[in-house]
Amino acid sequence: MHAHLRRTKIIATLGPATDRPGMLTRILEEGVDVVRLNLSHGSAEDHRRRAGEARAAAAALGREVAVLADLQGPKIRIAKFAAAPVLLEAGAPFALECDADAPPGDAARVGVSYLDLYKDVQPGDTLLLDDGLIALRVERIAGTTIHTRVQTGGALSDRKGINRLGGGLSLAALAEKDRSDIRLAAELDADFLAVSFAKCAADIEESRKLLRAAGGNAAIVAKIERAEAVAALAEIIDAADAVMVARGDLGVEIGDAELPGIQKKIIRETLARNKVVITATQMMQSMVESPIPTRAEVLDVANAVLDGTDAVMLSQETAAGKHPDKAVAAMRRVCLGAEHQFEPIEDLSVGTHQFERTDQAVAMATMFLAGRIGVRAIVALTESGATAQWLSRYRSSVPIYALSRRQSARRRMMLYRDVIPVEFDPHGVDATHAAKAAIQHLYNMQRLAEGDRVILTHGDHTGQRGGTNTLKLLRVGPGGVAEGLGNL
Ligand code: PGA
Ligand code: MN
Repeated sequence: MHAHLRRTKIIATLGPATDRPGMLTRILEEGVDVVRLNLSHGSAEDHRRRAGEARAAAAALGREVAVLADLQGPKIRIAKFAAAPVLLEAGAPFALECDADAPPGDAARVGVSYLDLYKDVQPGDTLLLDDGLIALRVERIAGTTIHTRVQTGGALSDRKGINRLGGGLSLAALAEKDRSDIRLAAELDADFLAVSFAKCAADIEESRKLLRAAGGNAAIVAKIERAEAVAALAEIIDAADAVMVARGDLGVEIGDAELPGIQKKIIRETLARNKVVITATQMMQSMVESPIPTRAEVLDVANAVLDGTDAVMLSQETAAGKHPDKAVAAMRRVCLGAEHQFEPIEDLSVGTHQFERTDQAVAMATMFLAGRIGVRAIVALTESGATAQWLSRYRSSVPIYALSRRQSARRRMMLYRDVIPVEFDPHGVDATHAAKAAIQHLYNMQRLAEGDRVILTHGDHTGQRGGTNTLKLLRVGPGGVAEGLGNL
């Protein structure tokens, strides 16, 4: 049964394509763990409806789904066209008008969302539109109009993003819309809040403060998508609960040639700092149209898994694609294949991980033993999910069953690689009985079988956060009764 457990988590962005009847259920059945609401698009009403429908569809399947609300952030965008899309021809002039009253655009000009843009760019700059699909070279600035020459042409539609090659374009960290979207995330009881275009730890802390003030408990995901964020990587990771390698914007800011190395560095650094990492954008892009991925996409998803990412993410593929369910199925298949080939190489005796708490020490000892005595599973009795997070920072091939009575903790743990959250309420019984009951519960669920060796972690008092201070070596006896392990 364990051979088919997928360890890497799948995030799917919701949108018109997942609004089709039955599609939410289909993508959940194919393996979606977390649904993403992209707050750059759609109304608050759309997001309320989609969050509700996703949770209802998961409940109907007898399972859970976590919700990630993704802020638009201070992204600079073009305005709308009179008739979208327009076709930009290479070599043709194209003007960006930094004027709130600019009329709807056409093939010669369009407005922008950031009215000071003309002050921030210079002749010779390269501006990239729509994640780099279209490139404009700035020729001159006249008044509030930026005159450019199209270098790489293509079809351009409403509200696509603008980046400058090399980075450095900047709006205030949180726009007015982001502040109201943070309140929306709190209202929706989102499990994760993604902060777009963060450039320093303070951006993350401010978002968390606003969210908490609005009554939200979501974990904060820092999207690494600006050149400045790469420079401030360590402080951003420490400030956030999780990070996202947001390759769409990041790739245009730092240039695509730098992207593979930076992706690996972000994954490595995030795990070393005991946080959670998501790899995102264009992972299965051709599946917006095609029912199967390209070989390059298969390799890309697999490489992210082999690098150690916690989760992989689908954007347009599920939000606006023709085959949302097939995209999820392809991702699941590729993750499973890559996990099969994954060889944990970490030498825990060297220990580059930061190391300052009791539950963390127990987690490290658990993973050290798990790699040496051969266990079927790790079982963590966890209140907040913290122990499961510590355990899962050490990549192994052993599944971690994280038993918690708290729904919010279980949902948060859905993002952690190797962790399988399970609802379990030990009803305040003492720790020894809770441990036995946990093994029995997993046996009854057919997650454990007679003869399996497990390592179980718990605290002295069930129902206490951060209280894990014990690890036990156990064997599943006849009928699911936990026994001591005896000789190894
Ligand atoms: P976005 O973020 O989809 O909100 O742009 C992800 C990315 O830039 O890769
Ligand atoms: Mn982005």
